[in-house]
Amino acid sequence: MKKRTPPLFLPLLLILCLISLSSCQGNFSRNTDSPITKTGFFFDTVIQITIYDRSQETLLDDCMDMAAKYEHLFSRTVTDSDTYRINQAKGSPVTVSADTINILQIAANYSRLSGGAFDLSIGAVSSLWDFKSGKGILPNPEDVARATETVSSLQIHILGDSVTLDNPDAQLDLGAIAKGYVADRMKDYLLSKGLSEGIINLGGNVLALGAKKDGSAYRIGIQKPFAPEGTSMLVVEVTDQTVVTSGVYERYFEKDGVIYHHILDPKTGYPISNDLLAVTIICPLSVDGDCLSTTCFALGLEKGMELIESLPDTEAIFVKTDESLEFSSGTQKQLSEIER
Ligand code: ADP
Ligand code: MG
Repeated sequence: MKKRTPPLFLPLLLILCLISLSSCQGNFSRNTDSPITKTGFFFDTVIQITIYDRSQETLLDDCMDMAAKYEHLFSRTVTDSDTYRINQAKGSPVTVSADTINILQIAANYSRLSGGAFDLSIGAVSSLWDFKSGKGILPNPEDVARATETVSSLQIHILGDSVTLDNPDAQLDLGAIAKGYVADRMKDYLLSKGLSEGIINLGGNVLALGAKKDGSAYRIGIQKPFAPEGTSMLVVEVTDQTVVTSGVYERYFEKDGVIYHHILDPKTGYPISNDLLAVTIICPLSVDGDCLSTTCFALGLEKGMELIESLPDTEAIFVKTDESLEFSSGTQKQLSEIER
């Protein structure tokens, strides 16, 4: 991969930026003309919830509380999280929450659809890589090889409310699915409180509630890879849909002219190398968008596109390394009028 500008570090917030909303300052924004937005830092990224009903401001705090709750459940570093306890269990069954069972069941389907390219048991491998500190240190190849042997989605067994990993050294990493799953839970919650408009943005994992008050679609900008944050490559229009991107530019470092990024090949333990920079998914559920963006990136353009075309109500935009774009067959109706 060719040389790029120095790494951008988290928060690489709002990989997708919300074009149609007025910008907010500080932690909380509220004025008579604008929607209200609350910002927080969870799941290692900036999250932003926006609603249009100013009388329901406390729901924004509730969403932040939900983010804290789910981070506590899914994080692999919080010592009593479900993920941490599974990872420490050395192959013994662990009783976990219904949300964790749910997430693992959804993930199992994507592992199957991707022929193993999407695999939440990648934790022993992903924990060897440091895309955060900016030091650009490669893991020891022997450690990578050893960790890779612990990865297999088929070893994750669910029985009632308990989870068992076959390999005592295997580790779960829910990074490819958690934000999408949590976005869907927040949307359910806001809908249950009677809201019909809003935007949930968990570090670029964007989920729209319904349409805007005037009936028009939300306009979501898709980040141009490696460009300054907030630079849109194109704008999509969504109603009651999610827009999720996985890309090499999100978490990466560069060493000796090579970009090492955070989407890893379960077979080799190294970043997936193909002719893609990013994949954006547009579909109804954010958990599907999250799993599919990682899955399609891992599968590459041809197989990824084939998978998208086989799924109902699901579209994808693939960005190739030469920055050309490939669209799935139904994407046209999602593109902003400007781009049509
Ligand atoms: P982001 O976390 O930026 O939203 P993704 O949804 O694409 O990006 O998830 C990438 C994360 O998923 C990585 O940071 C890592 O934690 C984990 N991961 C890396 N490779 C895989 C893989 N092949 N299958 C499942 N999870 C992966
Ligand atoms: Mg993902």
